[in-house]
Formats: sequence, structure tokens, C-alpha cells
Amino acid sequence: MTKLRLAIVGAGPAGIYAADILLKTERAFEVSIDLFEHLPAPYGLVRYGVAPDHPRIKGVVNALRDVLDRGDIRFFGNVRFGEDISLDDLKKHYNAVIFATGAVRDADLDIPGIDAEESYGAADFVSWYDGHPDVPRTWSLTAEHVGMIGNGNVALDAARILAKHADDLLPTEIPDNVYRVLKDSPVTDVHVFGRRGPAQVKFTPLELRELGELNDVDMVVYEEDFDYDEASLAAIASNKQVKVIDRVLQKWRELPSADGAGGEASRRLHLHFWARPVEVRTDDEGRVASLVYERTQADGSGGVVGTGEMREVPLGQLYRAIGYFGSPLPGVPFDDQHGVIPNREGQVLSEDSNDIVPGLYATGWIKRGPVGLIGHTKSDAMETISHLVNDQGSWWQPEDPSEEAIPALLAGRGVAWTDLEGWHRLDAHELSLGEPHDRERIKVVPRDEMVRISRGE
Ligand code: NAP
Repeated sequence: MTKLRLAIVGAGPAGIYAADILLKTERAFEVSIDLFEHLPAPYGLVRYGVAPDHPRIKGVVNALRDVLDRGDIRFFGNVRFGEDISLDDLKKHYNAVIFATGAVRDADLDIPGIDAEESYGAADFVSWYDGHPDVPRTWSLTAEHVGMIGNGNVALDAARILAKHADDLLPTEIPDNVYRVLKDSPVTDVHVFGRRGPAQVKFTPLELRELGELNDVDMVVYEEDFDYDEASLAAIASNKQVKVIDRVLQKWRELPSADGAGGEASRRLHLHFWARPVEVRTDDEGRVASLVYERTQADGSGGVVGTGEMREVPLGQLYRAIGYFGSPLPGVPFDDQHGVIPNREGQVLSEDSNDIVPGLYATGWIKRGPVGLIGHTKSDAMETISHLVNDQGSWWQPEDPSEEAIPALLAGRGVAWTDLEGWHRLDAHELSLGEPHDRERIKVVPRDEMVRISRGE
């Protein structure tokens, strides 16, 4: 019986779902899968992107763990594609590869001053508060007024973490260094800026409603933002999600804190709509001093046009949460305009000719861009896997498909890889660190420590 030796690069939900779907697919050949991950631990954005105070979404880990714990997928953590293992290596040892490397960088925002000190991408902030091993351990939180550009769920996550009192995050798996920095934060006001109106936001109702439940934080919405046009009214009438969002916002219009009129809380979270960022102004030392935005208005079809009216909001720190962007992988075609691997339904396409490149596949955010919730990666993986299965005739014919070849290759290169057993060891260690403090887990943050614990060294 033919055997498919498959490499998957990226052990986030996209990679793990793809492996699971392939193993469950009816097929006329055997399958053996190796899952490579550049971090020492699996689960990608579920571990390093979902906010620590969202345990429900973190629960996806249980489903992913069940897949890995079945034992029919080999995990190679702490292995960097392009450094520790190359595309040529994979061609020597596998019939095909699926890239599931996601999108972890912040998209660029091209406005003057965006590179000022104290101006950050929200993805970096998320990586920091989620204890990602490759970002600095420290973060400067010294501003009282902080801005957040974007109206997606990442903007709300980051704004919530900034506005929330650190002690309210203590029961979560928030790393200690993060708790300490948040505890000392002098923030009083977090301003979220959306370039369109309340009926055109990208965030979801649950995430919005949650902001109103924060302890000692007042929600501030502005009366002038609710002069809905026909397109907004139609969106509210026809889309359940928009209707719920509108209902939540309408309640906040009635709060004593509305329009910035006051309120009891020591912190405020402002939602500014119709605000297109134009310029970041700086102080004499090059640090963020304010955001200038242009007031926009509805164009009648869900989009906006500028009104020419400029406004300036004093800020000491600014984040842009305007979407993620994929990163190129050595030797693999890349569409640098959209930050994805060019592909047709998951079959990778060459950059110049648009022809299918045999043996290369993509799934998840690196395939379709950083949109959609974790569950959407399942249908995505199904499409990619169905092509992989049907393409049997064009798989690579590897020189040495033996399973022993990979550990030997990595060992020969001095790569300290981590395996599934090692992940269980690290997982148990983190849970045991949390237990005496009544916390779910305390994450081990430094990469070398993660590797040492995983490898039982
Ligand atoms: P997103 O949902 O695409 O939102 C991006 C936001 O940035 C939009 O409001 C967009 O406005 C705005 N934007 C883009 N370019 C801009 C510009 N040049 N100037 C001003 N604003 C700009 O992206 P995301 O928040 O990064 O989320 C990515 C995906 O992960 C989404 O599917 C999200 O739901 C998911 N996610 C979910 C959760 C959760 O469930 N709790 C948490 C985090 C992320 P326009 O709409 O006008 O383009």
C-alpha cells in the first residue's frame, strides 16, 4: 500500500486540524505525519494570541490536545523552518508539505509619525501579554491616555487588557511579569478609533458586551456617532450580529459617562467611530503626543468618505490593531501584497506563472489571510486536504522517507527539538506552578527554559 509521508509546518489550530482531517479521511493509502513548529510548544495563536481572560476560547486547546494525544502525529517543536530544516530537506524526506504558519505580524499603517516611540502594533502587545518567548519581557506602560486604532476583535482584546485592573486578570494564566507591569499602569483612558460607523465594525457582540462588564471601567460613547445613514439602518435590520452590537451601544448612550460627561469609575474606555487616522504627532523627544484623525461620514454603501474635519486627541501611547499579516517562508512562493502564500484552494501557486507547484500546500491564515474565527480553519483544512489526497500522482518521490531520518537529521545539526512527551512535561510543569496560587497555570516564558523543561534537562 502506498504511504503518504507528510510534513506540516506550524502546530497552531490550522496545522493540527489539517493533520486530524487527513487522518480521518477515507483514502487508499497509509499516512504518516510530522508536525514542525518553531516554538517549543504547540497550539500557535490559541496559546499566544487568545487573551488570557478568554478561557472559553482557550478551551479549543482541549480539542487540539485530544488530536495530538492520540499519538498518530509526531511533533517536532523548537524547529525553525528555513533555519533548522529547509524545503530541500523536506523534499528529500516527504511526499508533500502543508504550510500552516498563520499570520503573526501587525499590518503596516502608512501615516506620518506611526514609527514614533510609544507607537506599537497590537500583535506585539498581544504576544507580550500572552508570554511569547520571542518578544521582550518588558513593556512600557507609563501613559494615562492610550489610543487603539481598529475596530476588530484584536483592538477590543488589547483595549480591554489595557483598561482592566491587573488584579482582575490574576486568576488567569497571565504571566507574572505581565501582571506586575499592568499593576503599575497609570492608564485612565483608553480610546478606540474606528474609521467607519457602529454598524460597520468587525468585532463581535460578545467581545463588545464584555467591555461593559469590566470592573471600575466606564464605557464612553459619543452622541454624534449615532446619526445612522440608510446603509447602517439596513445593516442593523438585516444582520443579527450588527443588531446586537447596536443594542449594546444604544444602552451605553444612556450611561452617565456618555459623551465624556463623567461617571464613577477610575478608568474609561472610549469608542470613537467615524475616525480615520491621519497623523501621529510627537513631543520633542519623538514620543507619541497625539493622534490626528479625520472625521468621516457614510458614503451610503457601507464605506466612508472624509469630511475634511480634523481632530486631535492627546495620547501618551498608541497601538494599531488593523489586522495581522503573514510572513514569507524561505523557498516558498509569497504574495507580499496580501501577506499570504499564493494558492488555489490550498494548492500553492508559483509567483510568476500562477501554475500549481507540486507538493506544496497551504492552510489557515497563511492561505486565506487573517480573517475568521478559529473554527473556520477546519473547513479551510478540508479543502486543502481534499486536493492533497486527489493529487497523489504529483506528490514528491523522496529519497529517504524513513521516519528515523528526521530525528537523525536534526540531531546531526545540533537542533534541540521538543516532542509531544516534552510538551506534556512542560504543560504539567506550568499547571503545577499555578496550583498553589489558585491560578490555572503560570506560563514558562523564556525559550531556553521551555526547551530545558520539555527535554527533561
Ligand atoms: P479585523 O477583524 O480584520 O479588524 C481590523 C480592523 O482594522 C477593522 O476595523 C478595519 O477597518 C481596521 N483597519 C484596517 N486598516 C485600517 C486603516 N488603514 N486605518 C484604520 N483602520 C483600519 O482584524 P483583527 O482584529 O486583527 O482580527 C483578526 C481575526 O481574528 C478576526 O477574524 C477576529 O474576529 C479574530 N479574533 C477573534 C477574537 C475573539 O474571538 N475574541 C480575538 C482576536 C481576534 P475596516 O473594517 O474599515 O477595514
